[in-house]
Amino acid sequence: MSPRPPTPLVAGNWKMNTTVGEGLELARALRDALDGSGVEVELLPPFPHLVGVRGVLQGSSLLLGAQDCYAEDKGAFTGEVSPAMLVGICDDVLLGHSERRHILGESDELIARKLIAARRHHLRVILAVGETEAERLEDTTMAVVDRQLRSALESVEVGDGELVVAYEPVWAIGTGRTATPAQAEEVCVHIASRLDELLGEVANTVPILYGGSVTAANAAELFAEPHIHGALVGGASLKVDAFTAIVRAAEAARSGDAGSR
Ligand code: PEP
Repeated sequence: MSPRPPTPLVAGNWKMNTTVGEGLELARALRDALDGSGVEVELLPPFPHLVGVRGVLQGSSLLLGAQDCYAEDKGAFTGEVSPAMLVGICDDVLLGHSERRHILGESDELIARKLIAARRHHLRVILAVGETEAERLEDTTMAVVDRQLRSALESVEVGDGELVVAYEPVWAIGTGRTATPAQAEEVCVHIASRLDELLGEVANTVPILYGGSVTAANAAELFAEPHIHGALVGGASLKVDAFTAIVRAAEAARSGDAGSR
């Protein structure tokens, strides 16, 4: 019998959007719509919102994550936020998002150090990987994803339920050009097999998300793919109706999976 798929996760990356007041209002509306969901639902607001949003989500099933953290616990790193500061506030931290890799110049080596630091503080890590459009056209997608996974995971101990991987083709993020379900599934299958090699049995507990222009209109067909266990959602996570519809699609796909076993 094949292992039970990990619990799906739909995570909303708000990026650098919303004032603190707007963020609290959005968090309240999402909590009211999505508390008690049959899948994991997580909000990733900007740093200044985290303490307030934690208060809003208290007692609900929604998880809270940070969009990044630094690789050191404290010290002279002006403007950075350490994983030690997120403990007790956040469940998860997103690392390796393509905007950090490509706009802010983060290297594979820095992302690996951040991952070690986050795990030292027992934060679950959502590790984002994915190729640029040029890399896809050069047919190096799998090699790029391999390099990003290996470099992030080869020097860290990861246990059951401590990691999520998000496959996010850079050309699909914020562009409205979603990968087709077949394109996304092909890379997610590849990621699953690399995780098997890198993590052994723990790999079965790692949800693999797709991210890149996920909307209410395309979520269901992406979630129908067997190796896509949810989504990392950017733009649509700022709209209550759209994000709720994406979560409902993940719930429907999950109950379909359970029915087919
Ligand atoms: C993201 O920020 O991770 C993302 C996938 O953005 P969008 O959904 O807007 O493409």
